[in-house]
Amino acid sequence: MSKLAGRSYIVTGAGSGIGAATVARLIEDGANVVAVDLDADAAQKTLDDLGVDKGRAIAVGVDVSDESKVDEMTAQGVATFGGLDGVVNCAGVRGVGNILDTEHGVWDLNMDVNIEGSFNTSQAFCRYAREHNRPGSIVNISSQAGVEAVPNRLAYVTSKHGVVGLTRGVAIEMAQHGIRCNGIAPGMIATAMTAGMRADPENLEKIRKAHPIGREGQPEEIAAVISFLRSDDASYVTGIMMPVDGGITAGAASF
Ligand code: NAP
Repeated sequence: MSKLAGRSYIVTGAGSGIGAATVARLIEDGANVVAVDLDADAAQKTLDDLGVDKGRAIAVGVDVSDESKVDEMTAQGVATFGGLDGVVNCAGVRGVGNILDTEHGVWDLNMDVNIEGSFNTSQAFCRYAREHNRPGSIVNISSQAGVEAVPNRLAYVTSKHGVVGLTRGVAIEMAQHGIRCNGIAPGMIATAMTAGMRADPENLEKIRKAHPIGREGQPEEIAAVISFLRSDDASYVTGIMMPVDGGITAGAASF
């Protein structure tokens, strides 16, 4: 039997990149999915491209920073699938800027989506799970920039460090109730978010050299680890922030 058969998960950021790959992987693992994105059509396209059975997944357009919409979406997931087993928080934004020039709009958007979005979905899920005395699990996507600083991305670095704190805090609060909460800190992954950085061949070469494995990662390589963290194989794993980064945070690649 597929390892997540009969379980149901919310996946945010489902219209693109890591979120879309996660939807594909969870469907392959046998789970039902609430595919959430700012853009409902993008989330629906992910499902259409996969040819998912209508009974196995729904697409919902929600801004994860909107608490009441997240609550409604969570209730819709429960009503559709008869219950929920967890959340994968892939929705995210990134902004450029240092301490001198970061615009407040960029700062606010990074905090609203990357931290508050993950907080909103986690709170809605944990409240539901506690009310119904159900176990479950949450996976948050932080970043290499959430475990060490990178220059000129101050709002992103700060928000992704916040995701590490959120992950650990929820893990220790909810462990006693059978709810695990883990995170992943990806290195450079080939998605729309990083397309600009990878477009210049010289920059791409630098990026590849900085990762000891010698290449950027693919969204499916993050989805595979999410699948593990979701599964019963990870039943004793909670509160971790797992690097999936081609070795970039292990140390400098050879020169
Ligand atoms: P992506 O391809 O840009 O996907 C992000 C998705 O999140 C998009 O579909 C986007 O929708 C959606 N989104 C943005 N704001 C939202 C909101 N307020 N509510 C709901 N959905 C929203 O990026 P990705 O690379 O897959 O990133 C996924 C996660 O991994 C992010 O948290 C990112 O920070 C993290 N990460 C990525 C990398 C990397 O190298 N790619 C590395 C480390 C961490 P729209 O397109 O409609 O705005």
